Amino acid sequence: MKSNRARYCRSIQLLHLVSIFLYCAFIVILLSSCGYSREDDVDASVSRGPLPLESQGVPLNTSEADIEALPQGMENPMSSAPSPQAIPEIPEPSDECSETPPSIVLPSSPNQQPGLKNQEITSENLENEIPMGDWALILVNSTHPIPEDFSVVLADFESGKVDARIAETCKRMFDHARRDGHPLQLVVAHRTYEKQNQLFEKKVQSYLDKGYSRARAEAEAAKHTARPNTSEHQTGLALDIETTNTNAFPWLIEHAHEYGFILRYPEGKTDITGIIYEPWHWRFVGVEAARYIKESGQCLEEYLEEMNLTSP
Ligand SMILES: [Zn+2]
Repeated sequence: MKSNRARYCRSIQLLHLVSIFLYCAFIVILLSSCGYSREDDVDASVSRGPLPLESQGVPLNTSEADIEALPQGMENPMSSAPSPQAIPEIPEPSDECSETPPSIVLPSSPNQQPGLKNQEITSENLENEIPMGDWALILVNSTHPIPEDFSVVLADFESGKVDARIAETCKRMFDHARRDGHPLQLVVAHRTYEKQNQLFEKKVQSYLDKGYSRARAEAEAAKHTARPNTSEHQTGLALDIETTNTNAFPWLIEHAHEYGFILRYPEGKTDITGIIYEPWHWRFVGVEAARYIKESGQCLEEYLEEMNLTSP
């Protein structure tokens, strides 16, 4: 009787153990079939595309940019080169297109953005998602004035206007900063020739008033205000962003390259750029170039020279 009871208890215990084992096995199978991994915890909102956006380092749309998930090395300019998959190689100039490829769907209104989450993401369309091309690498400085035949189609952006090809990118960058709690404040974007001329003449006049000769007044003025046709603001590719008393600067240092922007006049490069350190002046050059410039610590002039893209 006693041994029967003991056998019965052992059977019950065994049954319990078997059912616990089956339950665990079921959970493991369920999790692995959902593709669960620790990385997915970083941002549950990221779509389940073939490649996580973060691993590409390029936000497809601002709501999907998750910088915490970027590979460590990407934030460190001194780190070894990331894998080719993480950062596409710098294309040869001839490969760069002057217009956004037709295959790329850029959201034309904020309402369309959520739809992009379900769009299939490939490294190819990610690379082309943010527009780039020779036009984005135009060099404008005191020795490279804007060409006479230069023209640009402008689009409204915040309180100003930018090259229409980068308007959406600018919006995404500003949206991202706002979401991170560091809203960016646009001070100046596109400036017309007339406006630049007016600013320059005003500066010249201030020196003429001090008794300078015309030539000397112009030379002095040029140190502070670009002569007409030598200001990047005329291209619609430069943004002056308020960086005093805000956290905009560190945010931009960390994220601007993801949107194709560089700090155009960094500290220690004045002898090359001809312009003093300007933490507020950000220039669009395209994502590839911006990444390279950030990681190499070059300024635009050095980059273009290395890539043999500097016009004589
Ligand atoms: Zn500026």
